[in-house]
Parts: sequence; structure tokens; C-alpha cells
Amino acid sequence: MKVLIVSDIHSNLVALDAVLADAAGLYDHMWCLGDIVGYGPEPNGCVRRVQEVADIVICGNHDWAALGKIDTSGFNPVARRATMWTSKMLADDVRSWLDALAPSFGEQSDFLLAHGSPADPIFEYVIDTQIALNNFAVMTHPFALVGHSHHPAIFVERPNQQAELLLPSELPTHDLTRDTRMILNPGSVGQPRDGDPRAAYAILDTDALTWTFRRAAYDIATVQAHMHAVGLPSYLSERLAVGM
Ligand code: ZN
Repeated sequence: MKVLIVSDIHSNLVALDAVLADAAGLYDHMWCLGDIVGYGPEPNGCVRRVQEVADIVICGNHDWAALGKIDTSGFNPVARRATMWTSKMLADDVRSWLDALAPSFGEQSDFLLAHGSPADPIFEYVIDTQIALNNFAVMTHPFALVGHSHHPAIFVERPNQQAELLLPSELPTHDLTRDTRMILNPGSVGQPRDGDPRAAYAILDTDALTWTFRRAAYDIATVQAHMHAVGLPSYLSERLAVGM
């Protein structure tokens, strides 16, 4: 099975459609790791596209924030403004569909899906090897697929309580083995923060056991104009151009 792995779409439908076009022919299933909404201009369109294409979908902290399920006082002011805008925009059917999503999914035997981390699926960021080690300690699957940080990365468990961070620039395709546990992050479709503004995603081949990082360029100016037109904070549209 070849699986398109997407995360952190953040209401950026132009980026999501660029990913689907770029990945055409490379996958037969799609798994989505949450944060479908928040920040961008097309929350309903993104949810509906994910509903059409994805087989497994979990929710993220921004999905919960838009539903009013978490307190946003810890969000920075622009994220809070975007959350309030998103919350107002959500169609009733979209809202109830998002509300039914679970924060993690582990029934694909070898793969645990969680937006944040295996230990804390909604809130924790896996951004360094110490956090990865803490999560390996509680992981019961060989592989965890996470998003949330908007940084494509693989954390690999090594002997003697060590972990290694692998970045996509070093090698786009990685071999997975069931005896070496990994936490894999495809990066963000709709708001990359690793300095590359192109939409980030990954292709997981569960038979060959490979993970391939990929990027898709999209029309950022169109998304920025749309964000401006609906009154979303300019900081959020400007950051799309630099991928930070
Ligand atoms: Zn996110």
C-alpha cells in the first residue's frame, strides 16, 4: 500500500490541491494528521477535500481550537484572530465532522497516527531528540506519524537511550525497518516553517517500507490575496512566502 501522508493543511486549499496533483499516481490511500483548519482562507474547502480523498483523518490542536474545544489563550494574537475567523466560517456539517475526529489512530498495526506526539497527541511538539526519546519510552508501535511542528523530520531510536534526527535534505527516501522505531513527520502542506515555502508531504510505502519526503510548489500569491481579501492577519500571509 502506498500512502500519501499530509499534515497541517491549515485551510490552504491551493497548497493541498498542488500536493494532490504532484502526488497523483504515487499513492492509493491518504492519511491526514490533523490541523486541517486554522490560519488560511479556505477551512470548509480543505475539510471537504480531505473528506473526499483521505482514508484516515485525525484532529489537531487548531481543529479543536476552531471548534472551541480548547482554550486559545496560549496562542499568539494572530493565531487567535485566525482561530476566531475560522470558527465563524465553519459550515455546520464541517463543524460536526471535525468534532467527531479522534486525536490519534493506531489500528494500522505498525503505524500510530498522532497530530502532536504519541504521548500527547494534541499538544506536544516532537522537535528534539530528548522529546523523541521520551516518546519512544511510551510507544507501542514501531512507527509514529506526527505533524504539528511543521518541520519535516525523522527521529530514529538508537541503542543505549539515544535518538538521531534525520532531515529530508540529507536523503529524500528513507528505508524503515520494524526493529528500529521511528517518529516521522511529513512537514506542513499549508504553512511550512523549515525555510522552504513549497507544500511539504510524504509518501509511505508500507510494503517496501520506505518513506519519501516530497515538496510541491503552489501559487502562494493567490493564497495571500485571498487571505488579505477576507481580513486574515498579514503576518500569516507574509510567512507563506518565506516558509517560516
Ligand atoms: Zn499546525
